[in-house]
Amino acid sequence: MTAPDGRQHADSDEARRIAAEYQAVLKAGEGTIELGRTVLCDACSTDLTDDPRSSGYMFGSYAYGPCCASERLATIQGYGEEWNIRAWCPPELSFADWIRAIRGPNAVIRVTPGMPRRGQS
Ligand SMILES: [Zn+2]
Repeated sequence: MTAPDGRQHADSDEARRIAAEYQAVLKAGEGTIELGRTVLCDACSTDLTDDPRSSGYMFGSYAYGPCCASERLATIQGYGEEWNIRAWCPPELSFADWIRAIRGPNAVIRVTPGMPRRGQS
């Protein structure tokens, strides 16, 4: 998956599968990618599926995990864009469990002609 800043990074089989399918679907112009229980950081694509750490937040439609939360927050504050942080991971949940709760079961990335979009099946 391409991060918002264009970096690409995949550190697990699931992250590589999703990144490869994402590229294929983008090439095709449309399609869906099943996420299952996989949770990746949208900033760096680190696989956080079984990471017990809490912290992180939703910045617009991007989910920034504990790996990037504080570094990204400094940048966000530098641009005065804190208003775009929609939700913070509650301390009693891991980031992955929190994201799975937000997106619900059977989450997919759906690419439609025009713009890549996220949705649920
Ligand atoms: Zn990250």
